[in-house]
Amino acid sequence: MSMINKENFTCPNCKHVQKCTIYSSMNVTADPELKEFFLSNKWNTFSCEECDTVVPFTDNMMYHDMTKKFVVWYKTDDEEISKELVQMFNRSLGEGNYMSNPIIVSERFHALFMVALCDKNGAPKSEEEKNHYLKYIKILCNSEQK
Ligand SMILES: [Zn+2]
Repeated sequence: MSMINKENFTCPNCKHVQKCTIYSSMNVTADPELKEFFLSNKWNTFSCEECDTVVPFTDNMMYHDMTKKFVVWYKTDDEEISKELVQMFNRSLGEGNYMSNPIIVSERFHALFMVALCDKNGAPKSEEEKNHYLKYIKILCNSEQK
């Protein structure tokens, strides 16, 4: 299941008020059409109908693929994942399952590249491989910015 919230947002440029859909999680196994939407980078973004101003939101967003077994969590706060949540996942899915070991990234582009990478090559199979993925993505993002 994917989780959404609808909120009014005021355009910082023209003050036009518009309803926005904010995802806190996307389950692309339950809602396959969300995969392309996620990769398009249009999620959790205010796009003004009046003046075309675009403002990306920084709300946390969890991307979840149950078939390929990975979770990429775009997480912009420093709050740690609660132990209760991890225990709950371990109880329902078995110890060390992919849900209790999400791939956490704090930048939007890192989330995009990580999902694209896991979708293509499969989820990282170990903590070491996960760090390789993260390192690779940081290099990719740095070279894009230059
Ligand atoms: Zn506007």
